[in-house]
Amino acid sequence: MKREPRHVVIAGGGITGLSAAFYLRKLCRERDIPLRLTVVERAQTLGGKIRTLRRDGHVIERGPDSFLARKTAILDLTRELGLEPELVPTRPEAGVSYILRGGELHRMPGGSMLGIPTKLKPFLQSGLVSPAGKARAALDLILPSRKESGDESLGAFFRRRLGDEVTETLVEPILAGIYSGDLDRLSLQATYPMFHEVERRYRSVIRGLKRGGLQQTAQPNAAPPLPEHLRRSLFLSYKDGLSALVEKLENALSDASLVSGEEIVRVSSSPEGLTLEAASGTAYRADAAVLAVPAFALGKLLPNLPAAQAFARTPYVSVANVVFGRALPLRRFGVRDPAPGRPFHHGMHLDFVEVGPYRTGRPHAHPVLRRTGGRPGVDVAGRRNDHRRREAGIAGTDGNPGGAGSGGADQVDAVDAPV
Ligand SMILES: Cc1cc2nc3c(=O)[nH]c(=O)nc-3n(C[C@H](O)[C@H](O)[C@H](O)COP(=O)(O)OP(=O)(O)OC[C@H]3O[C@@H](n4cnc5c(N)ncnc54)[C@H](O)[C@@H]3O)c2cc1C
Repeated sequence: MKREPRHVVIAGGGITGLSAAFYLRKLCRERDIPLRLTVVERAQTLGGKIRTLRRDGHVIERGPDSFLARKTAILDLTRELGLEPELVPTRPEAGVSYILRGGELHRMPGGSMLGIPTKLKPFLQSGLVSPAGKARAALDLILPSRKESGDESLGAFFRRRLGDEVTETLVEPILAGIYSGDLDRLSLQATYPMFHEVERRYRSVIRGLKRGGLQQTAQPNAAPPLPEHLRRSLFLSYKDGLSALVEKLENALSDASLVSGEEIVRVSSSPEGLTLEAASGTAYRADAAVLAVPAFALGKLLPNLPAAQAFARTPYVSVANVVFGRALPLRRFGVRDPAPGRPFHHGMHLDFVEVGPYRTGRPHAHPVLRRTGGRPGVDVAGRRNDHRRREAGIAGTDGNPGGAGSGGADQVDAVDAPV
């Protein structure tokens, strides 16, 4: 007897929704379960935060720019989609990081790993940290490890090990910048549990990192090894940018119904199943649903579910991404407005600037400089045009946007999220 297919509706066509659809279909095929799949996406295009801009031979990321090579789930998906030959490592000449302090760009001390100094000489020579701050960081080598069990904030961890100055000057711009969050409120276990493990094994974080502690504490990986040219890279992307993954998923899901430009506004259940109501008035009836939308959107979709209201209170930070795709005189770049508290400053007190050539992808005709920034309490998305102007001014010598020799931003994106 022919079985009726189960209808699963996925709200949200970002990487979470699309990969959920991909694996759900795979599982149902393996178990011979007839399935009808619908993905409903609010935006006109799929991919969510992943958006690659391909222009004038440049591959520029408007959202995420790479993924951690140790994350096996995305490598598995890459292989299943036949995208492994497209993988590219971090370009060796890229990834130079600077910290903006006192109106000057300071190169990150050589040997720093995620902002943590691991080489003595470049750290001692760096003008970024005072002699007292350097001496305090060195105490990490002799301080005992933490006795209490349980989680602590990233800030508490690094302040305890390396002192306030190194934490705020070197670590915070990078680690807090990645989450656009407050180092003193981000959970160590939820973000970088491997640092806890490094302390447990080596006591000293500096010594642990020097001895390859981060790699050794990584989860054992049963996946086949990556090709030789990719193995040393901490981050990976695809030759044509991260959107290549979204495009492959879209192709692989050709038998699913992919609806874009449609917002789900409410989900309700009855003995007959689920109903996902869209703003257009369409009602999607489903046997099961996956809500792959940002946490804050869940409260609205499930007004009668107390757990969803807790998700709705999850604080989000809006971030902006500004790209300069032309030759810019580095010395004149980014030093106009170092005041703390301004948007575009990565980290709480300082700035973190990564200077091109771009981290992954094809070599560019010009250096590409990308700044991503946002911080708790600043509505970057709501002030997009301000930023376009300010960024243009920052890049020039005379503060005249678009004036001779200045470099107005070529692409400004803002991700809108409640703060
Ligand atoms: C600027 C920036 C840089 C980043 N850099 C990195 C990086 O380098 N590496 C990394 O690993 N991660 C990075 N991240 C994080 C990464 O982009 C996200 O974790 C990931 O893309 C989230 O995917 P998602 O599918 O869960 O959510 P999203 O991409 O947010 O997708 C959710 C989708 O749901 C849709 N939606 C929302 N509400 C509804 C509704 N009611 N009905 C229908 N659809 C709805 C949205 O339009 C969206 O398309 C970065 C994020 C940003 C913003």
